[in-house]
Amino acid sequence: MGNLENDKQKKIQEIVSIIKLASLLFSGIIFLRYFFNGNDLMKATEETYYNPFLYFSVILVLILVLIYFIWSFSTIKKIKCKYINNIQLMENALFVLLFIILVLYSGKNTSDYKFIFLFIIIASTIQQGMKQGMIVACVASLFILGLDLIYAPNEVVNQFFSNDLILSGVFILTAWPLGFYVKIENEHIRVLEGLANIDGLTGIYNHRFFYDALGEIMKICERENKVVSMMLLDIDYFKVYNDVNGHQMGDEVLKNIGFILKNSFRKDDIVARYGGEEFAIILPNTSETNAIKLAEKLRNKIEKTYFSGEENQPNGKVTVSIGISTYPDKAKDAIELFKSADDALYRAKFFDKNRVESYTSILDELKIDTEDEHIDIITSIKTLISVINAKDKYTYGHVERVVIYSKLLADKLELNEKNKKDLIFGAYMHDIGKINIPKEILNKNMPLTNEEWEIMKQHSVNGVEIVKSVESLKEIIPLILHHHERYDGRGYPDNLKGNDIPYLVRMLTVVDCFDAMTSSRPYNKRKTYAEAVEELKRCRGTQFDKDIVDAFVEVIMESQNGFGNVGA
Ligand code: GH3
Ligand code: MG
Ligand code: MG
Repeated sequence: MGNLENDKQKKIQEIVSIIKLASLLFSGIIFLRYFFNGNDLMKATEETYYNPFLYFSVILVLILVLIYFIWSFSTIKKIKCKYINNIQLMENALFVLLFIILVLYSGKNTSDYKFIFLFIIIASTIQQGMKQGMIVACVASLFILGLDLIYAPNEVVNQFFSNDLILSGVFILTAWPLGFYVKIENEHIRVLEGLANIDGLTGIYNHRFFYDALGEIMKICERENKVVSMMLLDIDYFKVYNDVNGHQMGDEVLKNIGFILKNSFRKDDIVARYGGEEFAIILPNTSETNAIKLAEKLRNKIEKTYFSGEENQPNGKVTVSIGISTYPDKAKDAIELFKSADDALYRAKFFDKNRVESYTSILDELKIDTEDEHIDIITSIKTLISVINAKDKYTYGHVERVVIYSKLLADKLELNEKNKKDLIFGAYMHDIGKINIPKEILNKNMPLTNEEWEIMKQHSVNGVEIVKSVESLKEIIPLILHHHERYDGRGYPDNLKGNDIPYLVRMLTVVDCFDAMTSSRPYNKRKTYAEAVEELKRCRGTQFDKDIVDAFVEVIMESQNGFGNVGA
């Protein structure tokens, strides 16, 4: 709607400029006429028309009009400039001054051109509203009536005064209804703007407004060094709710949750329905700690609220999961803020739902118990990963999820600290070679051709090329090189088989494939956890190491609360 408003302002400015230009031309003609003839037109002689001064004056007037033309149309382009109001105010004042001089010059109280003020009254009312228009109308009226009193004071009935009283009435009656119309129209636009920003079902802001507001808020917070937190909220097992109770009841749940949200936050917070059953809240000037407290209160409130039909939900009630991130602590711009909150939401979903999670980067966690010499490596890994994320939109979050799973699996299989750390570093770095794969192949919406597959398969070898010169990453080279080997020897690049594939690599392969199955890919429908677990079991002993599959299935079952979960 900002653009619409801008377009409207531009068009108004165009009309106003034309009115002002016309009035300037009139003024020029009146000046010239009085310059040569005074009040008596009959005085014009042939000599007057051959006077070179006349032509000079005409050209001068035209040049002035042209200058104004260029100036006014160049300000249309700067309609967004914050001084535009002051510029317009000064311009209007100059026009009033010009008309005052014109009336004084063309006969003071006897002037026939007092009506010229109507131009600027109309222009300023359209441009700046009723108040400005009325001020200009009053100034013009006082001026013309004052002139009559000063220059024709002794007449019994001041004919000029009574005529000008009518003209003043015309001035005011032009400014008032026109100003009123402009006001009504502006209010109407504001109402429409409001409606366009509101989600029809829930009555809270919609997706489009959310993005506009996020941009604006981030701009202010970046400029003033303030914190902003973001919450992303997703209803748990909502598909099940719809399937069991029907879409209409589902809509009622959305409405009620919208209502609860609207009444749970401050006026300055932006509460929006971001997607189907996803909500987003922007919390300016709110630290992460406070955002977590607010989210926990909200989660609890929704859990305690009764929604009809909730008995049939997998966990017996309608609940929500909430992800939180904070600028500038956890994200450096709006996009990162959203993505990291989404990441946190994913984590909340993964760990049993009905839960609040704030964003933490596992690499940042690792920094805490890593010796100084490795801190630099972690920082470089982060940079490389952000390069891949920027290139390959489908693997966003993939790396972090693979790391979460690897950590859980490492604990399950009781790896020692060194192996666990190698596995986590390897999980982080396993796709690093994708940096060299063209973006078109990484993001292709259709199955890859044979040649494209060959290029894609290069990423494991490419990855090794990237890290091989870093001494402290030597240990993770096998993880990068072999994470696409298969237990039956039909993988790539070296067709390693069985226990020839290092143990940590076999772990990574299971985890990596599980995430590939359960996340959205360009041309694969994502599987639910239950379906993916079935698939792992099906490929136990062919693609994957049997024992590792068994351990990982246990990890997933435990984190999903014994598989109450049916969704992804
Ligand atoms: P999870 O706990 O993992 O979030 O599981 P879920 O079932 O909520 O999964 P997912 O987010 O994939 O499902 C979203 C469902 O939300 C799908 C659709 O049926 C439902 N939905 C989306 N928009 C609307 C809507 O406007 N009205 C209704 N009634 N349902 C909607
Ligand atoms: Mg969802
Ligand atoms: Mg959901």
